[in-house]
Amino acid sequence: MNLFEKKIHSNGFRLTKGPIEILQVNLGKLCNMTCVHCHVEAGPTKTRENMDLRTTEAVAAYMKNSGIIPPPRFGPEGQSVSGRYRGGGIKTLDLTGGAPEMNPHFRYLATEARQLGIHVIDRCNLTVLFLPGQENLGQFLADHNVEIIASLPCYLKENVDRQRGRGTFDKSIKGLQLLNRLGYGKEESGLALNLVYNPVGPHLPPDQHELEKDYKKRLKEDWGIAFNRLYTITNMPITRYAKYLRALNQYEAYVELLINSFNPATLEGLMCRNTLSVGWDGRLYDCDFNQMLGMQLRNGKPMTIFDVYIWNLEGRRIETGNHCFGCTAGCGSSCQGALENKSEKVRR
Ligand code: SF4
Ligand code: SF4
Repeated sequence: MNLFEKKIHSNGFRLTKGPIEILQVNLGKLCNMTCVHCHVEAGPTKTRENMDLRTTEAVAAYMKNSGIIPPPRFGPEGQSVSGRYRGGGIKTLDLTGGAPEMNPHFRYLATEARQLGIHVIDRCNLTVLFLPGQENLGQFLADHNVEIIASLPCYLKENVDRQRGRGTFDKSIKGLQLLNRLGYGKEESGLALNLVYNPVGPHLPPDQHELEKDYKKRLKEDWGIAFNRLYTITNMPITRYAKYLRALNQYEAYVELLINSFNPATLEGLMCRNTLSVGWDGRLYDCDFNQMLGMQLRNGKPMTIFDVYIWNLEGRRIETGNHCFGCTAGCGSSCQGALENKSEKVRR
């Protein structure tokens, strides 16, 4: 039993899957950037690790069938079935990468999901909006009412450029202004524009609510930018970020900080409980972090989007490791930001 399991067991908790409502799909590792904190190890050279059409079609079929109890001989190809509709199913398609928009099937998948009435999130790095061939990306997202969750680790240029590469801040500001012109970030438009903060150094994020106020003030005053919510996310000490911490000789200290900051009040809200993560090659995982660590779901054999259905997963034990302390430290962390607001009383 790993240290994380011991810790949650000592708090009387077992981490198991509930109903799957969020399908988080990693469309590949191709990205126009190479940020130091990137747990995906994405970059411009990762051209081979990208989801192909057959796999995106299987994802679309899975979304379509996710609220249906299958007949006994439900085929392995994810085809439509005439089973009994049981309600529920996938409510959100969360598209990530790399830069998910650089995958040629990104728009197909987003369109399919919207036609099924599924909410779609695009995890956008903002600079992708200015790549050749992506000139109408913002308009496409607005036309399909896709929520944008965009990285902006600081409202200060030097901090953003240090973490994400020189010139990123200026392009990010231009991208946010473009999205505002399309209606994003304005309450009355219904087009959600949420930002992501992750610490530039090896420490926990500050209070999400307080930081959001600072971001809103600075971005409005300095650049005329409006947005809806700010999500604070803890950096995971895995892959590229682990290498970065080791190079600074700060890996052990950071891991210790995460362990010592364990907060049991975050357990109920852990994102792996209602999320299914799909890799670019169709393999399935409990979350995006487990995906990057190769902790594929197994059911006698490795599970993929081609041969698994939503009703197989409920009640399953979630695969954990000591990296999970990154989700339970302080106010907690998920792809939707903090799990508990520090402004509220911390339950321990
Ligand atoms: S933009 Fe996102 S996916 Fe691309 S390198 Fe940076 S963190 Fe990784
Ligand atoms: S790393 Fe993944 S499996 Fe572990 S607690 Fe976080 S979301 Fe759950």
